[in-house]
Amino acid sequence: TTPAKESKVDVLIVGAGPAGYMAALWFARLGIKTKIIDKRSTQIFTGQADGLQPRVLEVFETFGFVDRAIKEVAVGYEACFYEPDENGLIRRVDKLPEGVPGISRFNGSVIHQGRIETWLSDAITEFSNGTLNVERPYLPQSLEIEAADTPTPSEYPVKVVLKKLPDDNASPEQFGHKVQNGLYRQFGGDQQNPVPGAESGDDLETVHAKYVLGCDGAHSWVRKQLGIEHKGETTDYVWGVLDIVPVTDFPDIRKRCSIHSKDGGSIMVIPREDGIVRFYIQLREGDHIATVDPAEPTTTPTGEKKPATRVDRTKLTAEHILATAQKIMHPYSLEVAEMHWFTAYQIGQRVATAFQKDQRVFIAGDACHTHSPKAGQGMNVSMMDTFNLAWKLAYVIKGLAKPSILPTYESERMTVAQDLIAYDQKLSRLFSSKPGEISTDEFRRVIDQGSAFTTGCTVNYQTSLLIDKPAAEDNVTPYYSPLATKLAIGMRLPDTKLVMQSDARPWYLNQRLPSTGQFRVLVFIGDYAQTPALKAQMEAIGAYLAKPENSLQRLRTDGVLQTMLIHASPQAKVEWDDFPLVFRPRDERGVMDYWLVMADTPSLHETTGNAYETYGIEKGVGALVVLRPDGYVAKVVEPTVEGVKGVWDWLSQFVVGLTPTEI
Ligand code: FAD
Repeated sequence: TTPAKESKVDVLIVGAGPAGYMAALWFARLGIKTKIIDKRSTQIFTGQADGLQPRVLEVFETFGFVDRAIKEVAVGYEACFYEPDENGLIRRVDKLPEGVPGISRFNGSVIHQGRIETWLSDAITEFSNGTLNVERPYLPQSLEIEAADTPTPSEYPVKVVLKKLPDDNASPEQFGHKVQNGLYRQFGGDQQNPVPGAESGDDLETVHAKYVLGCDGAHSWVRKQLGIEHKGETTDYVWGVLDIVPVTDFPDIRKRCSIHSKDGGSIMVIPREDGIVRFYIQLREGDHIATVDPAEPTTTPTGEKKPATRVDRTKLTAEHILATAQKIMHPYSLEVAEMHWFTAYQIGQRVATAFQKDQRVFIAGDACHTHSPKAGQGMNVSMMDTFNLAWKLAYVIKGLAKPSILPTYESERMTVAQDLIAYDQKLSRLFSSKPGEISTDEFRRVIDQGSAFTTGCTVNYQTSLLIDKPAAEDNVTPYYSPLATKLAIGMRLPDTKLVMQSDARPWYLNQRLPSTGQFRVLVFIGDYAQTPALKAQMEAIGAYLAKPENSLQRLRTDGVLQTMLIHASPQAKVEWDDFPLVFRPRDERGVMDYWLVMADTPSLHETTGNAYETYGIEKGVGALVVLRPDGYVAKVVEPTVEGVKGVWDWLSQFVVGLTPTEI
């Protein structure tokens, strides 16, 4: 059948879950011609993932909608641990801070996935002036990538044929329960079960794309088209999830709790928005019906294949899961005032063996990695995958950067995925163990150690074209330049509060670093007012950057590079006219930009003045810090003209049209 419609786009995104939405958000922000499709006729409104880690909230802030999150979410501050006492009754044995106090301005927060997708979708509408919307329900039929050795390469080398589904065929039917749940039957939109009829070309469309992103979830069709294996195993752990407004005498119901009962199993309690509480409940034999499914064999990490044991989800009811929860919570009572959602699932711990094919078609999110939801990471890591990938694609599509930056997506994000699975395996084993098999101390130690990881703030990207540090032996040990001894290269810039020089208003630095797609050079010029050498360096950098023949000046004019100055001189010694004009530029009307000079100085109103200390930068020496568009520290050099030339040399490795300097 010949498709009736044809279209050309820079990027086609298959799947509008958290990963697809985050990609679309970047593309909308950066003006990339994008098409995003989903096989479902509507977005989700209840259930599914609910955890937002601090790092993702920082990212939401850079896109301007973290305020919406703060108004609506439930925030975790304390975690309680319950164990059986000598009478076999559960009692609280410990209370720890939730997350890592001080690692971010945001604490881990929870709200259902549908709300988060709404914020993302609204921001996409705003950035794209309403031109980018999810097209539903569409199902891809075929995907072809032009061979790399084609004599006349096309500008749009990926071809995908899409089929428009009838709306009534694109809502998965639930397994016969009244409450919204995640126990779906296959539906017409599942590739295993194609829609009968509807084979005329009228409902088909051929999309020619420069790049395709498979953000189509754990059973990714795109991944299968690329022949990429999803390596790992399906565990025997079966978990039920209940989202309820509870009626209970359990005293810590509004705190996060891990409860290990004597012989009823384990529960995680996660207080949510609007009085809802989510319960993750481990189901045991007898609580569920397990069947062996030879059709979907499991590949173990050693490559061995074995038939998977699958839970028969059709037989599970919310009442059934609740009864297990009541048993674990005993002697506390647990009844339901409102039931919002429930599901049951078996944990699969898998990582795709590649995250791309030919650097043309990429997969992200659950398509790359699946694991248990206990660490609350699924949705977060999925969004951070495309937060990492999409700006790089935008740079290449706009002709600003060479395609050689693209492999950093797979190298950076596969490491994160593998770390996540390793942590999840540890955590799953602990949760599924019986009291006595593993000591409470070990349990709490693993949770405590994992806390930093689950904030998302400790991701440490390795040496590459986009991260300039000596090649490390592992990706765990942070690398610090002697110029900034607490600012790890490869990690996100920790936040700190500064004072805007022009109007004395205190700002968190992250609020001044929106996701605009710019690389940023932060010139920490120290106490220039009391250090003549630094004053001379500042003036020399200003004069150098201002030269019209200077390529860095071109990058600044194009908006690819933003330069900001952060000094540490006492206000009494500072005058606005001290600062070179490149840090106080005027637009064509002569209006000055007042927002590029900040001071690490005590504010008269709020606590500020610790930035140099926080970053380990000496006020008499200074440093020049380069940030990538996604806020990760890429390079640290001295704040001199030589240092600036070093940044130019570094950028010229991947920015189109820059040539290395002669120093
Ligand atoms: P998804 O959110 O799965 O989004 C994929 C999107 O692609 C969907 O909208 C889907 O309709 C669409 N799609 C799929 N195939 C195609 C196709 N061929 N063509 C077009 N569109 C397609 N995580 C937790 O942390 N806690 C939980 O309790 C939890 N419960 C879950 C319950 C269910 C039923 C599911 C499905 C997931 C759950 N998760 C949970 C996982 C969490 O939702 C994911 O980690 C997260 O959503 C991953 O984001 P993603 O964008 O990669 O994929």
